Amino acid sequence: MNEPIRHHLYVVEDDPALRDMLASYFEKHGFAVTTMRSAEDMLHRIDRLRPDLIVLDVGLPGISGLQACQKLRADGDRIPIVLLTARSEEIDRVLGLEMGADDYLGKPFSARELLARVNAVLRRTAFVPGAPSADRAESVRLGEYLFDPNGRCLRQGDEVRMLRTVEYALLAELTANPGVAISRERLLAASHKRQDTVLLRAIDAAIMRLRKVIEPDPAEPRYIQTVRGHGYMFVPFGAGQGRAA
Ligand code: CA
Repeated sequence: MNEPIRHHLYVVEDDPALRDMLASYFEKHGFAVTTMRSAEDMLHRIDRLRPDLIVLDVGLPGISGLQACQKLRADGDRIPIVLLTARSEEIDRVLGLEMGADDYLGKPFSARELLARVNAVLRRTAFVPGAPSADRAESVRLGEYLFDPNGRCLRQGDEVRMLRTVEYALLAELTANPGVAISRERLLAASHKRQDTVLLRAIDAAIMRLRKVIEPDPAEPRYIQTVRGHGYMFVPFGAGQGRAA
């Protein structure tokens, strides 16, 4: 198979010493890390550079980690989140899990413990999508972008934009079947472990996010078209032009 996937973390923490310590610790353990000091910054950037998991401090200036978590979940975003908060804030713990956080760690904690939690959440939320198999995973041209299924990313020249797991699975399933209308149920099966009908809305949300990135005009989708009452279809850029080596 391919080289192991390098997970990308957001570390959202307003304490600079803790933020820098966590960033260097996770980088040392093979993660790509993007640090931020506010939830506003995180919410602003998340659609443009998707992480695999967010380490999110609860006590942040402005929007709190809890509010940010609640907002992401309200938007149908299931991105894994591990909350950090001051010790013994039991209410925060309960609220955090109610608001859809995947795990919770009270301060002070050891970086090693956080690493174990992060890895456990990544394992729990990981899945193997049905498509595509390694031997046929050629890159697919999407306008300015090249979708690289092996790298789970979009490439634009030297720029690499990592895709979050659900978006990767959706693009892989759609582009592996050009010109075929694919039902939302099938897209759900290809991208989520849990087959929950509520999650059908998450498919639409993920398609919207993908369109914002790859479509020249997301309001008039060119590559990922809606098939009303059914699902979505990848429309390649003309016969023989849709794929690039
Ligand atoms: Ca804080």
